[in-house]
Amino acid sequence: MARKQQTRGECVFCRREMAKGGLTRHLKSCPARQETIAAANAGGGKNEALYHLQALDAWSGDYWLHLEMRGDATLNDLDSYLRAIWLECCGHLSAFSIGPYRYTQLFDDGWAVGDEKDMAVKVARLFRPGMEIPYEYDFGTTSELVIKVVDVRKGRPLTPNPIFLMARNKMSAFICQECGQPAEWLCIECIYEHDEPGLLCKAHADEHEHEAYGGPMPLVNSPRVGMCGYVGPAEPPY
Ligand SMILES: [Zn+2]
Ligand SMILES: [Zn+2]
Ligand SMILES: [Zn+2]
Ligand SMILES: [Zn+2]
Repeated sequence: MARKQQTRGECVFCRREMAKGGLTRHLKSCPARQETIAAANAGGGKNEALYHLQALDAWSGDYWLHLEMRGDATLNDLDSYLRAIWLECCGHLSAFSIGPYRYTQLFDDGWAVGDEKDMAVKVARLFRPGMEIPYEYDFGTTSELVIKVVDVRKGRPLTPNPIFLMARNKMSAFICQECGQPAEWLCIECIYEHDEPGLLCKAHADEHEHEAYGGPMPLVNSPRVGMCGYVGPAEPPY
C-alpha cells in the first residue's frame, strides 16, 4: 500500500508525538517517564528486570509498538498481547525464534520436534538487550513481526499486568482511490487482481462491486489488515 510518510506516535508519559526512531531515543530520556518510574520504585513490591521492547511488522516497519514487559512474565503473555492488539483472527499457531529454538504452543501429544520449546517460559531467562526476535502468527497466511529488545532496567513495574504500552503508531492517512477523501475501507480484490491500492472511503466502499475476497473490509491499525479476513478490533487487551 502506498504511504505518504513515516508513521508517528505519541509517548504515553508526556504526550509528545514523534516518528518511530525518535521515540526509541526519547523513551530513554523522557522526564515524564523518569518521574513515573521513580514513583513506582518508591512504592511497594519487588524489583524485577523490566524490558523495553519494540515490536515491528517485518516488512514495512510502519506498524510498531513500544512496550515495557516484566521479566517474570512469559512468552505466552507477549503472544497474547500481540494477538489482542494486532493479530488474532481465528486462533492460528504462532512462534518466537530465539537462537536455535522456536518457542511455540506445544501440546501433550508428542508434536514437539527437536528445536521446539514451549512458550510458557519467563522472558528474563531469554531476553538480552540487542536481541532481534522473529515472530510469526499463522503458518499459512503468515504475519511476520520482529521483537527488538531495546533496553532493560531493574525496578518495580508500572503495572500489575505483564506488559505496559508506552507508544504505538498512529493510523497512516490513507486516501480513497476514487475520490481522494480519507479512506477507511480496504478491497483485497483491487490489490491482488487489479493492481489498485484498494483504498476506499465509506461512500465508495458502499458502492464497490468487488466481492471475490468478501468485499471491502474496514482498515484497522494492524499489520494483519487484509490478511485472513482480519477486521480488528486491534485494541490493547488492558
Ligand atoms: Zn515522553
Ligand atoms: Zn485466520
Ligand atoms: Zn471515495
Ligand atoms: Zn475492489
